[in-house]
Amino acid sequence: MKKGNISVQTENIFPIIKQFLYSDQEIFLRELVSNAVDATSKIKTLASRGELKSELGDLTIDVVVDKEAKTLTIKDRGIGMDEEEVKKYLNQVAFSSAQEFLEKYEKDSGIIGHFGLGFYSAFMVANRVEVVTRSYKEDTVGVKWACEGDPNYTIEDATREERGTDIILHVSDDAKEYLEDNRIEELLMKYCKFLPVPIRFGTKEETIYEGEGDDKEAKTITKDNIINNSEPAWKKLPANLTDEDYRNFYKELYPYSQPPMFWIHLNIDYPFNLTGVLFFPKLGNNFEVQKNKIQLYSNQVYVTDDVKDIVPEFLTLLHGVIDSPDIPLNVSRSYLQADHNVKKITGYITKKVAEKLNDLFSKQREDYEAKWKDLSVFVKYGMISDEKFYEKATKFALLTNTEDKHFTIEEYKEHIKATQTDKHDKIIGLYTTDAAEHYSYIESAKAKGYDVLQFDNIIDNHFMQSLEHKGGDMTFVRVDSDTVDNLVQKDEKLESVLTEDQQKKVEEIFKAQIQDVTASVSMKALSPEDQPVVITRPEFMRRMKEMQNLQGGMGMGAFPDSYNVVVNTNHPLICEKLIKMKKAEKKAEFTEYLYNLARLNQNMLKGADLSKFIQTSINFIK
Ligand code: ADP
Repeated sequence: MKKGNISVQTENIFPIIKQFLYSDQEIFLRELVSNAVDATSKIKTLASRGELKSELGDLTIDVVVDKEAKTLTIKDRGIGMDEEEVKKYLNQVAFSSAQEFLEKYEKDSGIIGHFGLGFYSAFMVANRVEVVTRSYKEDTVGVKWACEGDPNYTIEDATREERGTDIILHVSDDAKEYLEDNRIEELLMKYCKFLPVPIRFGTKEETIYEGEGDDKEAKTITKDNIINNSEPAWKKLPANLTDEDYRNFYKELYPYSQPPMFWIHLNIDYPFNLTGVLFFPKLGNNFEVQKNKIQLYSNQVYVTDDVKDIVPEFLTLLHGVIDSPDIPLNVSRSYLQADHNVKKITGYITKKVAEKLNDLFSKQREDYEAKWKDLSVFVKYGMISDEKFYEKATKFALLTNTEDKHFTIEEYKEHIKATQTDKHDKIIGLYTTDAAEHYSYIESAKAKGYDVLQFDNIIDNHFMQSLEHKGGDMTFVRVDSDTVDNLVQKDEKLESVLTEDQQKKVEEIFKAQIQDVTASVSMKALSPEDQPVVITRPEFMRRMKEMQNLQGGMGMGAFPDSYNVVVNTNHPLICEKLIKMKKAEKKAEFTEYLYNLARLNQNMLKGADLSKFIQTSINFIK
């Protein structure tokens, strides 16, 4: 047996490995299994080039727990190592890369601590590591290397018949969880689910049924417990996959989710390498729970499901897999955002997503419209947050009116231009946030020949503002807003049947009656068919208030809840009935009643006021 000393340049890294990366401890298994996969891929390459003299054989990688001996072993039938290679790769290459990684990690613990530590990550959970290996080369013998987590190691010849490597971890007392089958299987499922070489973890029992009907018999058989699907869908050519294949793959990733609506297969090899499948889930209105489900892989090795810094925020609403060896993984998050490759990758994904949506929209509009309800949050979110996506999405983003008809933005402008342009040549879109609550306002708008959009998701508030800012020639007002009346073209403006004097009188009666300081009273010549008194809300103030509420009511004091009381001087109840009343008492009672009717319509009449109103109504009927 030979003894040696791993040349330590800076300081003893073993204690650091043990403590420092405690939170990321579990990744040792991925590192070791990945090494086994690499060694296996190398032997496959040699075989395919005709450089392997012996049989390739079964290449399955085994992970074995021995609770009694307190060992966890990873066995591969890859290229193996001879003595020189053990010294070179384990004592020098592996050691210096671990050292380099730890130095980086010490400086910036924001490092995505997933890759780079490699072989020496074994010492996070083991107090002794043995490597028993034999090279594929002829005329070599087995080698055994052992190290106890200090710079000393031993190396000796070992009897080993087969090509390949066993990494034997003597698990330390404080890491006993890694001797539990459940824990190991869980980790293998997490990190190794799609590795390109079969990974076996013992055996499992399965019940199968033989025979038919009454003769049916349950039988238990023992099978290899293969952890991974070594040929995941994203690695295949789209031409070789059916819709069913994609749906099955989705199920494999998210067993409990509803089937996706559609998907995009990503496949690029220049100027960077990236494959993957992104699925569009059925989002509906409830999108927060669906977020952050994209998984990031590097050559089929699971890295993370936290892709926030890699893809634009709105794309985190999508599901699926991105696999790219070109995303630098052992750098910090802030660096990642500035990384050139990462920028290109996000640009590429955004473009692909927009293309897919545009394609669906232009080729299968009906189908696209049917899916719009589940898609709109995603598209709107993207338009709000991503300038490039906004530009592309103006072609396929849809606006839906209260009749459930869909329009593109341009189509909609065309649709309403003639009737809904104000005196400043701005196109005014009307919308409702709640069609039931705004029923009478919607009906009244429709009677005037206006169209009303449904903006009933919280995101619509921001979406609308994006359209106003970026689109330029269109603004939106809610259907109960004070500006709705301004839409009526100048030449169509109705004349009031009351004289100015009479109007003044009516105004005085109302002002005397309405005590609420947040209300402002005005006279307007509306159609006799409109309601006698209408309450409208200033669009700007209402929006500011809503924004403030969204932000938790913080800021520079509450915005007043102001509103307008618009008296329709052309309504018979005003211009014929009220104007002719003599008794002050009667006038007051009547005015209050009309005002309360308008409040009732805006859902403003509550509690004692409502009770009183109902009593007055009953008295009237009597
Ligand atoms: P990396 O894999 O990033 O090169 P590691 O520290 O994980 O760094 O491993 C160092 C080297 O040790 C590898 O490059 C490889 O040459 C060798 N090695 C590790 N594990 C195995 C194995 N199971 N079979 C053959 N060679 C291995």
